[in-house]
Amino acid sequence: MTALRGYGKRVMVTGGAGFLGSHLCERLLARGCEVLCVDNYFTGSRQNVAHLLDNRLFETMRHDVTFPLYVEVDEIYNLACPASPVHYQHDPVQTTKTSVHGAINMLGLAKRLNAKILQASTSEVYGDPSVHPQPEDYWGHVNAIGPRACYDEGKRCAETLFFDYHRQHGLPIKVVRIFNTYGPRMHPNDGRVVSNFIMQALRGEPITIYGDGSQTRSFCYVDDLVEGMLRFMDTGAEHTGPLNIGNPGEFTMLELAEKVLRLTGSSSPIVHKELPQDDPKQRRPDIARAKALLDWEPQVPLDEGLARTIAYFRQRFVT
Ligand code: NAD
Ligand code: UDP
Ligand code: UDP
Repeated sequence: MTALRGYGKRVMVTGGAGFLGSHLCERLLARGCEVLCVDNYFTGSRQNVAHLLDNRLFETMRHDVTFPLYVEVDEIYNLACPASPVHYQHDPVQTTKTSVHGAINMLGLAKRLNAKILQASTSEVYGDPSVHPQPEDYWGHVNAIGPRACYDEGKRCAETLFFDYHRQHGLPIKVVRIFNTYGPRMHPNDGRVVSNFIMQALRGEPITIYGDGSQTRSFCYVDDLVEGMLRFMDTGAEHTGPLNIGNPGEFTMLELAEKVLRLTGSSSPIVHKELPQDDPKQRRPDIARAKALLDWEPQVPLDEGLARTIAYFRQRFVT
């Protein structure tokens, strides 16, 4: 029975009070796992996991992963890291420390326990890609000294550390490259495009398109992403990844703005603002590997996922 697949397993989720982490904690609890949610609440919040606090299998710990952590668990999902450009560029040195020192500490912990450990990597390791769509064997096109580098290079170094712990210490690792994911519990002010457009539309404020809006992204609904991560964690130790998880449906930011306007019924005007430096022009996952390995593909189309996300933002922030 799926609900009992994780029965008795102790699972740690770093960044568990964040957007993706809170959904992952919820799903792990539903499987019967004991869940330890570790977070320093930089971009996450206790509110995101408030509904889980009564569950006797759930425990939270305020901790910064750049410092060592000694706990006993069977599996680790390492999600701790600010994810939106506004948040990760706020304190770029801390962002790199979180990715790199955080990875070293969590890998050291996993090594001591011989625990399976999954890294939440990102499509940003492909940078502003010159190969489209992006397969896992594309090495990427990243500016090492630009404003996005703290995140991109931090995540790339974390991947290096994961594979070196695997090769050097035989550690069971899973590296998943997550493409733009959205849904309820996104931070309303994190500056990401989906949350920005929805909040602007609901408040009747101008929709801010950076540049001419022809750049593309591929948006995955959070439930699909979490399902992919769980399935990947369940695969045998020979499957290390890296594995792309995302929705291959590709849209321009102009198309996204139009969808949000239609689904909210808003009459907000569209305004254009300066395109941020090194903003990737196109992004779309090649998910052939995930399909074959996990028998997985996204189920929630963008319109439906946006409608659910809009309902959340409307109820939580705009009533
Ligand atoms: P989020 O900002 O909502 O969650 C990140 C969580 O990590 C927050 O709860 C934050 O407080 C916590 N955190 C940050 N620094 C920490 C530290 N030093 N110690 C402990 N906790 C810390 O973002 P998210 O969208 O949920 O992203 C989760 C993970 O997935 C991140 O690693 C991110 O890089 C990765 N990812 C997300 C996306 C996406 O589209 N959402 C895409 C690619 C990769
Ligand atoms: N570490 C931790 N928890 C543990 C074990 C290790 O946080 O249970 C951290 C510790 O800070 C250590 C790092 O992980 O420096 C890397 O551990 P490893 O064993 O790989 O190397 P060490 O630095 O101990 O030689
Ligand atoms: N973007 C936009 N308006 C906004 C916020 C973002 O046009 O208010 C654009 C941004 O320039 C980028 C895309 O939307 O091209 C996705 O941005 P986001 O910050 O969500 O994610 P990332 O760039 O990390 O994929």
